[in-house]
Amino acid sequence: MTEVFQERVATLLEALPYIREFHGKTVVIKYGGAAMGEESLREGFATDVVLLKYVGLNPVIVHGGGPDITTYMERLGMEVRFHEGVRVSDPATVEVAKMVLLGKVNADIVNRLNRHGQPAVGLSGEDGALFDIRPHEQSAEVGFVGDIERVDVDVLNHIAEDYIPVVASAGADREGNSYNVNADTAAGKVAAALGAYKAIFLTDVSGWLEDPSEPDSRVSRATVDEVSAGLAEVGGGMRPKLEACVEAIRGNVGSAHIVDGRRPHSLLLELFTDAGIGTMVTG
Ligand code: ADP
Ligand code: MG
Repeated sequence: MTEVFQERVATLLEALPYIREFHGKTVVIKYGGAAMGEESLREGFATDVVLLKYVGLNPVIVHGGGPDITTYMERLGMEVRFHEGVRVSDPATVEVAKMVLLGKVNADIVNRLNRHGQPAVGLSGEDGALFDIRPHEQSAEVGFVGDIERVDVDVLNHIAEDYIPVVASAGADREGNSYNVNADTAAGKVAAALGAYKAIFLTDVSGWLEDPSEPDSRVSRATVDEVSAGLAEVGGGMRPKLEACVEAIRGNVGSAHIVDGRRPHSLLLELFTDAGIGTMVTG
């Protein structure tokens, strides 16, 4: 019995240097995909984020809504297409994406964080003019997908004083057109604009894989230069993620991590243990 308690104390002590290091630091967390799929993982994510706030970190959530947007589009009989990992977005798609992202996915995250004891505030790139959007360079292929030209973090800093900001990755340009924004891209930009200490991308694989068909080929550490050099060969949803890591590090974020969101409490494992999971990108 006492051994069990000793182990628990050891776990807390293992976390202490990390808690000290991270106190007061901003961590941008890209939430999506697998970690959003299962009820137990959604609850686990919410408890983890709430714990981060309680121990003195400043968590900022940026999320997509991939699977949910697809589900609702299919329910409405709409065609779902991707081009190089980016959702092809005609005006009707953007309309549904925005409704699902804000009305469902964002609201659900906020609700859970509230329920676990740290009040959260949901917003999109349009609130407080957070994102200034211009059309994506491939807008001919992908339609109303936006690139973020500028992030005005004022609104985030205000909210983060008392609440956990939860950002849905959508926004508008100056003419008022709405755009879908890839959530990885948004998280990278937000992390850079906030000068975050870390950016963590939760996903549905163990990290950046040298060979995507080989789950054991995870790259555990890489520099921005190594990531940039390898980028041309990376496809699918991993590409915007790695690009976002590069963007974050070039914007002076301390480190960027791609972490397996299918693993319960992967956030806490990454932040507070010596486990060293996922792929870590540094300058
Ligand atoms: P998320 O919801 O986390 O953004 P995505 O599907 O957009 O998920 O991106 C993760 C996916 O990227 C993986 O499931 C995998 O299919 C794909 N992928 C393509 N190339 C790689 C690679 N080299 N390493 C890891 N995953 C890759
Ligand atoms: Mg993705």
